[in-house]
Parts: sequence; structure tokens; C-alpha cells
Amino acid sequence: MGRDHGFHPVRITRIIQETADTRTYVLDAPYSYRAGQFLTIKACGALRSYSMSSSPATDTELMTTVKRVPGGLVSNWMHDHLRPGDVVETTLPAGVFCLRETDAPLVAFCGGSGITPILSLAKTALATTDRRVRMLTANRDAGSVIFESALDELARHYPDRFGNQHHLDTRNGFVTDRQVRDFAGGDRDADFYICGPTPFMDLTERALLEHGVDPGRILIERFGSQTEAPAADQPVAGQGESEGTVAIVLSGKRHTVPQHSGETLLESARRAGLAPPFSCESGNCATCIAQVTEGEAKMRVNNALDDDEIADGWVLTCQGEPVTPHVTVVYED
Ligand SMILES: Cc1cc2nc3c(=O)[nH]c(=O)nc-3n(C[C@H](O)[C@H](O)[C@H](O)COP(=O)(O)OP(=O)(O)OC[C@H]3O[C@@H](n4cnc5c(N)ncnc54)[C@H](O)[C@@H]3O)c2cc1C
Repeated sequence: MGRDHGFHPVRITRIIQETADTRTYVLDAPYSYRAGQFLTIKACGALRSYSMSSSPATDTELMTTVKRVPGGLVSNWMHDHLRPGDVVETTLPAGVFCLRETDAPLVAFCGGSGITPILSLAKTALATTDRRVRMLTANRDAGSVIFESALDELARHYPDRFGNQHHLDTRNGFVTDRQVRDFAGGDRDADFYICGPTPFMDLTERALLEHGVDPGRILIERFGSQTEAPAADQPVAGQGESEGTVAIVLSGKRHTVPQHSGETLLESARRAGLAPPFSCESGNCATCIAQVTEGEAKMRVNNALDDDEIADGWVLTCQGEPVTPHVTVVYED
């Protein structure tokens, strides 16, 4: 039932060096996707999500763009080891940081690699609608600006509907609340898209809310991950045993543990000594997805699954807490 959340081999056809620490991977992937979605890559025993920087409306190839994270496992491995012709394992595209059916202007704030999904959204909105698109792109310095020529090209192609304002920390310090409010200006009824480092996103969201923007018009894609997940055999803090059970089906085997109040399905699975898949542990990436086949679980945060998937019982196990005494959750093989 529902969609395929498994991994598929995909060949890298080209690699584009965007900046000193950012590369675009062009994938020979016959996936259909919506602008703003991501796929999850399995590499060096870990799972990481990367957004499409290409537009399904204007680009014939599917591209993801990866920035090195200092000390990071997968981003550096990809830069150091992947070459054209190599094959990587990826999920199908997922995510809900997408365009909505609206004529409202699109106003986007992106920091660093946060431009990846936003470039896809901007290109797609410009090509398929009459919407105006304005972007504020913040980067550390001139050398860190990703997709500068693509942005210039959009400005040339859509002079009346597209604008981009570059912000460089080396020139002006970090983006301020005031700058965000000024950039939003009179476009309070726009759809606002935010993606970038957590402090940048928090500041931008707060400034927009203070500016009077309806929270329902603010869409945020959080790249952040909690890197220090408890190991499978570590106890999970602070939960008392309650009536009921959680049954976890992983690799076709069923394991049942007593339900603990306030515990997520992923935590229950770990308590059962299992090692199910997960990555961001923040409700953003869908790596930990599984299907509830008995009972019900409610997600604390969901930035990845759409309404149809939820109706089919799919749940982000890092966020799903049982709300019925007995829950069975099945991970795909
Ligand atoms: C929906 C979504 C879309 C995304 N899209 C993109 C995209 O388009 N482009 C992109 O570049 N990224 C994207 N990301 C981020 C990406 O998934 C990775 O999080 C990022 O590449 C870092 O992964 P990594 O394995 O290199 O770093 P990790 O190994 O996860 O490390 C991240 C940071 O934590 C630190 N760290 C690691 N372990 C420890 C430890 N034990 N103690 C203290 N610090 C530690 C590292 O030094 C590093 O600074 C996206 C994330 C999500 C959730």
C-alpha cells in the first residue's frame, strides 16, 4: 500500500563544482518529483537527505547540491569519493516544502546550502505560474555564493517577476530582523519560504511573525540533524511504563515491547534492541518512515509526509507517539 520508501541504485552522470565546498550531483534517476522535495542517500553506513536543486518543470536532469559540512561524515565522503559513473543508493523524492496552489508572491530567504530547494521552487514557480518571486540569499562571502549565474539568468529571463538580493556576512554581518522585515515589505500575504542554518531560520521566522505575517504562510525546510542519537542498547530517558504494547516489525521479524509514555516509536524500537533507519531525528527527512498497521500514532513534528501518506498510516517514527494502547509499526525491507 502507498508509496515506495525503499532505496534504489542511481548513477551519477556529472558533477558540477559550484563553489570551493559545494558540488551538484547530476543523477540518472527517472524519478518524478515536486520542486522543493529531497531524496535520501545511503552512504558510509549513514542516511542523509539532499534536496533537488533542479526544477521538474525546466530541467531535464535531476540534480542535488551538497555542501561540505566541517567534520561531517556523508557530505565530505561524497565530495572526496564520488565520481561520475559511480552509483549511489537513494530513496524516491519526498517532502512537503513545495509550491502551493496560489497566485501569491513567493518570497524566499536562503542561507548557504539552503538555496538548494529554493532555487528549484523559484524556477518552477516562474516557469509554471505568473507569480512574482523574490529571494534574499545570505552567504558568508563572495566565494560562497552558490548558483550565482543561475540567479542572474532568472533575473534576465524574468525581469518583471524575479529579483534576488545577495547578502554577504563579510560585508554586512549576519542578516538582521530589520533586514528581514524590510525585505518582506508590503508582501505580507506572500508565501514565505525559509531554508538555511538554524539561527538564520529562527531569526527570519521571528522577524516575519513580528512583521505581521500569518504563520500559515511561512514554510520552513530544516536541514538540521541530531547527530548524537542514543545507541541501540542505551536506555531512553524519562519514560514510565504504561498499559499497552508497541510491536515493531523490522526485516520481517516482529518484536514487542511494553509501551512507555512519552516515547516515540523509534525510541521503542531502540529499547527493543533494534537498529531501525533514522537520520535527522527532527521530523524533517523521512528516513525513519514506517507504516502503522494496527492502532494509531501521532507525530509531534512532521515536515516530510503529505496528507495521503499519513492517511495510509505512514509515520515518521522519530516523531510518532502511540495514542492507542496497542500499536504495530512495520518498517519496509
Ligand atoms: C530535508 C533535508 C534536506 C536537506 N537538503 C540538503 C541539501 O540540499 N544540501 C546540503 O548540503 N545539505 C542538505 N541537508 C543536510 C544534509 O542532510 C546533512 O545533514 C549534511 O550534509 C551534513 O551531513 P554530514 O554527514 O556531512 O554531517 P554529520 O556527520 O551529520 O555532521 C554534522 C555536524 O555535526 C558535527 N558532529 C558530528 N558528530 C558529532 C559528535 N559526535 N559530536 C559533536 N559534533 C558532531 C559535525 O562536525 C558536523 O559539523 C538536508 C537535510 C534535510 C533534513
